This record gives sequence, C-alpha cells and structure tokens, in this order.
Amino acid sequence: MKILIVEDEVKTGEYLRLGLREAGFTVELVHDGLDGLHLAREGDYDLLILDVMLPGMNGWQLLAALRQHGQMMPVLFLTARDQVEDRVKGLELGADDYLVKPFSFAELLARVRTILRRGRPAAEATTLQLANLELDLLRRRVSRDGKRITLTAKEFGLLELLMRRHGEVLPRSLIASQVWDINFDSDTNVIDVAMRRLRAKIDDDFEPKLIQTVRGMGYVLDLPEQS
Ligand code: CA
Repeated sequence: MKILIVEDEVKTGEYLRLGLREAGFTVELVHDGLDGLHLAREGDYDLLILDVMLPGMNGWQLLAALRQHGQMMPVLFLTARDQVEDRVKGLELGADDYLVKPFSFAELLARVRTILRRGRPAAEATTLQLANLELDLLRRRVSRDGKRITLTAKEFGLLELLMRRHGEVLPRSLIASQVWDINFDSDTNVIDVAMRRLRAKIDDDFEPKLIQTVRGMGYVLDLPEQS
C-alpha cells in the first residue's frame, strides 16, 4: 500500500512518514502543494494525506485539481482548523475523512486503515446494499425486499449519496452541494421535502426504517440501533 503525504511542517511530515513506514506502508513525503499534485498525478497511490495550508497550492485546490482529472484515490485531510465549514468544504470536494491537529499517531493510523479497507467504491461496486434495500448503479434501479421502487433522478442521487456514506450523518449543506449543486446558504427546505418523499417510498411500507433525521445535524442512512 502506497501513501503520499503532502505536509509542509517538516516535523509533522517526518513523524508521519516514519510511523507509517513502521506500520508497513510505502510512503512518500513532499512539502509543497504543487509537488504534491505532480506526484499524485504520476504515481499510483492508495491514499493521499493532505495538509490544508500548504505553499504552492493549498490542499483543497490540490484535491479539486485531482478530482477534475478523474483521479479518485482516497484523501485524508489534516487540518489545524476545526470549524465545521472547513470540514464540510473538504468533504464536499471529495475528501474521505479529516483529522484535526493535533492528533495522535494511533488515531491517524486507525483512520488510514479504515479508509483503505473501504477501498475505492467508485471503481468496484455496481450495487449498493443496506439490509433489504438495494441500489443497482448500472441499471439505476432500486428495490426493497425484492420489490422494485420507482425514484426520480434526484431521489436516486440522494439515495445513492446516503448509501455510499451510510452510517455517517450528512449535513444538509453537504447534501445540497452534492445532489443539487447548490451551495450552503440556499434554502435547505428543498432537501427536507425531497427526503420526506424518499422516505415515503423506501421506508414507509418496509422494515427496518433506514433514513434517520439527526436533529440539528442532518440525515443518516443506517440500521436502527437495537435497544
Ligand atoms: Ca501547513
């Protein structure tokens, strides 16, 4: 497994490089955003670890440039800033996870392993499944308990996002930007309405209920917790 680290703080970078090497990974480290982009485009990395504030080009720009070129390798952001907006921005751009500095190496390693286990869903899976809910990405079909359910294109997009990130609470702003192409400040009521319709189609007549509202935070698709 090959990892590229782009981190301009020399000490942090070295610390990560040594630790990850000891954990058995092949690691390359660069300190500049442009070098990072160049290497990421050339090399076949299984994971990028990106600092946000970098000379040359910041982590977000780097990630956006990669995604524009269709490079879908997973990305873990390191950020000194812990504001929600920053996290959302990174996730919107297609980051897989983020870690707020300072962090422990053990935590970083755990996140790295989780991301690598998840693999590259875009390249592999053609169906997504949770409990008895199944989404066929090639045929654009949805079924629950073996029964076909008809969704609009938006509803399908919404469900696909929820399924790809199931178990994760997705803020309305993230859903808005991923499914509707609208930004944060837009009226998020449209999402609640769409979610209600989606719920009526995939949850109302079936068990277990999968779409859950997390008050003040957003939505999550998950199996209900057993009491
Ligand atoms: Ca930095």
